[in-house]
Amino acid sequence: MIKVHHNHEKVNLMSDSIITRFPPSPTGYLHVGGARTALFNWLYARHMNGKFILRIEDTDTKRSTQESVDAILQGLEWLGIEWDEGPYFQSERIDIYKSYVQKLIDTGHAYYCTCSEQEIEDMRQEAVKAGKNPKYNGKCREKGLPKTDNAVVRFKVPYTGTTVLNDVVKKHIVFQHTELDDFIIQRSDGMPTYNFAVIVDDITMHVNTVIRGDDHVSNTPKQILLYNALNEPLPTYAHVPMVLGKDKTRLSKRHGAMSVTEFKDMGILPEALVNYLVRLGWSHGDQEFFTKQELIEKFSLKNIGSAAGIFDHQKLIALNAAHIQASDISYLCRLMIPLLNQIGCNAEQGTFLEKVIFTLQKRSKTLIEMADNARFYYTDAVVYEDQAIQKCFTPASTPLMAALLEQLKQISEFNEKNLESAFHRVVEQTGVKMNQIAQPIRVALTGKTASPGIFEIIEILGQDKAMSRIEKAIMYINEHH
Ligand code: GLU
Repeated sequence: MIKVHHNHEKVNLMSDSIITRFPPSPTGYLHVGGARTALFNWLYARHMNGKFILRIEDTDTKRSTQESVDAILQGLEWLGIEWDEGPYFQSERIDIYKSYVQKLIDTGHAYYCTCSEQEIEDMRQEAVKAGKNPKYNGKCREKGLPKTDNAVVRFKVPYTGTTVLNDVVKKHIVFQHTELDDFIIQRSDGMPTYNFAVIVDDITMHVNTVIRGDDHVSNTPKQILLYNALNEPLPTYAHVPMVLGKDKTRLSKRHGAMSVTEFKDMGILPEALVNYLVRLGWSHGDQEFFTKQELIEKFSLKNIGSAAGIFDHQKLIALNAAHIQASDISYLCRLMIPLLNQIGCNAEQGTFLEKVIFTLQKRSKTLIEMADNARFYYTDAVVYEDQAIQKCFTPASTPLMAALLEQLKQISEFNEKNLESAFHRVVEQTGVKMNQIAQPIRVALTGKTASPGIFEIIEILGQDKAMSRIEKAIMYINEHH
């Protein structure tokens, strides 16, 4: 019978500080599911004053690329997930895995196997014929074969009994050993398999808390068996349900943006994506909005949910708007400068930009939208939207605009209060409603029918710019009617 370790008791005895890790395989960009796993591990380490390790699982040399490593590191950095140790690279640790393979061979827990692919295929077929799972039949298990060039190393799974996973999220799961077979821990080229490398790393890096996607639940009995064979304490396991799309299928390209970089490019704030991803599998009452500091204070394993998180782009955008509103102006300015430059607006740090951002902060759901809304502040060549022309640029509006121009000329100090009075004087003179003046002026200044407050924008643009734009608009209307 196999010994069952009870995760929590053992860990608490063994270690007083929490050590978590994020071990991505560098075979693609950092996607939101991986980012959430990283976040949970990072938050838990921060919450517990522990340590968070980054490890790159690059033993699959055909699929691993430096580009992916870079993309993953950049994604983590952008999200503000700092690691305390690493990145370690599995490809640089092959000797360590080999020494652990040797330990298992020496203690009789593992053996060399020289069965050919064809033989293994035949065994699998036979098992299926006998109504069992396709599996290796243990042919080399008791042969005591020596190491040879084409030999793999297999782990001896007990024929009978069970292995139990006590998971923080999944609770108690019992695995029958008859469902498993003697799985490979080292390939013939000397490379470790995932299940083996991961436990050797977690053991040697003193990782005591493993938070990962529940797609790894089926690997866990194999990993537990390896810990037991090496007489090492088990980590605490928390297997988090996958992130699904709105149609309840596993999140994929079909559901839209997936990679952390894509969200960055959409103008999502890292704080918003962090908040959204954490809430996608963890909760603290009904609270939706969290700063990073609050997440660190409140994060706990026990509040990880057992239901899959549904990724909803609309909700992320709404949360992003809330984070934009809660951000410091100076922070937003820093993020906006490159975005504004990209669209040809010559923005630089200073009070002008601060005022611009202040008017847009409550009106923009993404930074991209904010940049687009800020465009009119930077370019005198205002492009009038068609429907704005239709609605507001009528012959009746030109005398009102001209009357306002007269008033603007006379303002000595160009501030919101004086501007408001100027508009009111035109209302009194002409007897029209405020909107009938404000709307054509808005279109003249911004090209659009919706913008920040009219007095605010005139003050920011300043007397010369505002007046010349209004003059241009009057000319435009006269030419087109
Ligand atoms: N490299 C594995 C993955 O990306 C790590 C799984 C684990 O956390 O053990 O899925």
